Amino acid sequence: MPISGRILRIEKLSSFDGDGLRTVVFLKGCPLACQWCSTPESQRSGTDFGVDRSKCTGCFTCVETCPETALAWDMKAEQFIIDRSLCTDCRTCAAACPQKARQAWGYTADTNEIFREVEKDSLFYFHSGGGVTLSGGEPLLQHRFCAELLEKCLTHGINTAVETCGHVPWENMAAVLPFIDTLFFDVKHLDTTIHRQFTSVGNEHILDNLARVDGAGHALSLVVRMPVVPGCNDTEDNIRALGTLCKTLENLHEIQLLPYHRLGIETYRRLNVSYALEHTQAPEETFMAHCRTILEQMGLQAKVGG
Ligand code: SF4
Ligand code: SF4
Repeated sequence: MPISGRILRIEKLSSFDGDGLRTVVFLKGCPLACQWCSTPESQRSGTDFGVDRSKCTGCFTCVETCPETALAWDMKAEQFIIDRSLCTDCRTCAAACPQKARQAWGYTADTNEIFREVEKDSLFYFHSGGGVTLSGGEPLLQHRFCAELLEKCLTHGINTAVETCGHVPWENMAAVLPFIDTLFFDVKHLDTTIHRQFTSVGNEHILDNLARVDGAGHALSLVVRMPVVPGCNDTEDNIRALGTLCKTLENLHEIQLLPYHRLGIETYRRLNVSYALEHTQAPEETFMAHCRTILEQMGLQAKVGG
């Protein structure tokens, strides 16, 4: 029996998150809650529901068709509410919406189903040097699913990459490492108190896992990534501390500095979740170049972007 996983979505022909053209499989569920998260609909393992208020006409077909009377309109708060104890995840509400305004994020699929989707683009991988990337959410929360899928891909000559926040049990990570060509490992802040403030967890376990990956002896390409978020982690001290950490890694391929962006804000609105960085703007290109230079002057290979 192939293993089933919780999937958010699959994006095809991506030129990010690895070499060449890639199929990116986003998995549901994450142990962190980063304030800048651009995929808030990935954080919970269960299905999330949202409404595009610019399309919604207030017809309430969704409410009327819900077979469990789990969905209602809260007149006072002027928003939809779902009683999760009644909702069976049937998605009738989303399917019934005449405006396609109601969205459901998350579904279950097994490794055979996902592999069939990935394999469809083999020709693009062959010509571009691309492959598959598992992202999220945190894919390694579902390590058995990931290991089985990635092993299938490797067996068929498809390059594999995984993005991780690093905050998973070491056993999860160790189970998947043999099947990864490139590991993108996020480091968000080197001060654990500030890390906790912005992500909800400290960084000790993450840094411990990073050191263990480096010493595990797998022939993978290790890339350390830091999102650079103004007002959160964009100090020279933090960039230097990142450089100092990376100098201790024997198998580091490069550091990637990812400029903060605001592309996920509309999803927060649809989820009816407040966005903590409402007034934060993307960092200046010159500042990102400065950060890269700091790392290069420390003798490290660094680039801006993924
Ligand atoms: S069915 Fe669609 S358009 Fe009608 S109230 Fe629900 S979300 Fe809005
Ligand atoms: S998924 Fe099904 S049970 Fe849940 S709110 Fe929508 S229609 Fe109701």
